Amino acid sequence: MWTRLKGDFDLAILVIFGGCAGLAITPFSFFRFANGQYLLGLVDLAIVAAIGAAVVHAVRSGNTQRAGFFMAIVINVGCIVVTLMFGRHGLMWVYPVIVISFFLTRRVYAVLLGACLIAICAFDARSYVSRLELVSFMVTGALVVLYTCLFAWRTGTQQARLQILASRDPLTNTGNRRLLEVELDEVSTERARSESTLAMLDLDHFKEVNDRHGHEAGDRVLVQFSALVLQTMRRQDRLYRYGGEEFVLLMPGCSVVGAQALMARLQSTVRAQLRSPGGPVSVSIGLAEARAGEDWSRWLARADAALYAAKRAGRDRVVVSGEESGGAKAA
Ligand code: GH3
Ligand code: MG
Ligand code: MG
Repeated sequence: MWTRLKGDFDLAILVIFGGCAGLAITPFSFFRFANGQYLLGLVDLAIVAAIGAAVVHAVRSGNTQRAGFFMAIVINVGCIVVTLMFGRHGLMWVYPVIVISFFLTRRVYAVLLGACLIAICAFDARSYVSRLELVSFMVTGALVVLYTCLFAWRTGTQQARLQILASRDPLTNTGNRRLLEVELDEVSTERARSESTLAMLDLDHFKEVNDRHGHEAGDRVLVQFSALVLQTMRRQDRLYRYGGEEFVLLMPGCSVVGAQALMARLQSTVRAQLRSPGGPVSVSIGLAEARAGEDWSRWLARADAALYAAKRAGRDRVVVSGEESGGAKAA
């Protein structure tokens, strides 16, 4: 459970919030019962129970979006009920409820809930000693919604940027090895996996390009090569730089026969267009179709073994896993 919470930020937020809400609201509920305010005590208990149920649902189903939205509704409605029943004491909860809603659900819903909360609480004039206090409540409430929304937006964009930085190769702008592992995990859990093929692609004699023409010329070849793969592959295919001059192409929903046709097209494009200052650069390719029940590291290892067979057989060719002895040079 601990590992799961560490890896799933949204679930961790819901669990932490559920725990804090239980600890913060339950004593109030007992206090109200002790003071004879049974109805309010029951409202508090109902809020805690609903939040607890949403946490359990999130943990069991993994659907944090639905559970978070439900929790946001519960705390906003709970805050409205307490304010309407209890007057100004309930108002103090409006501000934390506005902020917490942004943690629990999507920004647009949190803004709408915050606006409704302020409007409904402002409607009950008994809670305010003067018109000025009512206006102050509405203005400060609106400011909290505005600034929390801005903060949430900024955090969201920064997170998205960091995610891109952490998952892409800066030179070729293809996916990096970390992203490959994440996406292979995802593909492995999908049923469609039995129809997926992996290609491992390695430029031939690439060290010579670097040694003879310099690292920058080598970099340009890498960028050119990845652009050629991106323009040849299908829309649903995914290209990753595995390391150095080695790339992996994931072709979901593609049999090895389809992948062979695609790789033949790629090789003719590479032969016609990939050039270093010293002349043409070729590529060797290993292909492996996914097998049912096989984990992805084994799948990748088979594509790698096929690539090495292509190298041993003379380079500039495609070899399919399981057919390593017959690595013929593609036309
Ligand atoms: P083979 O045909 O057997 O694949 O031979 P190779 O020379 O391509 O393979 P080798 O593994 O001997 O050399 C790979 C070279 O790739 C070594 C390294 O200088 C170069 N390399 C790795 N990463 C980069 C990079 O980011 N930029 C450049 N320019 N070169 C790189
Ligand atoms: Mg190489
Ligand atoms: Mg290599």
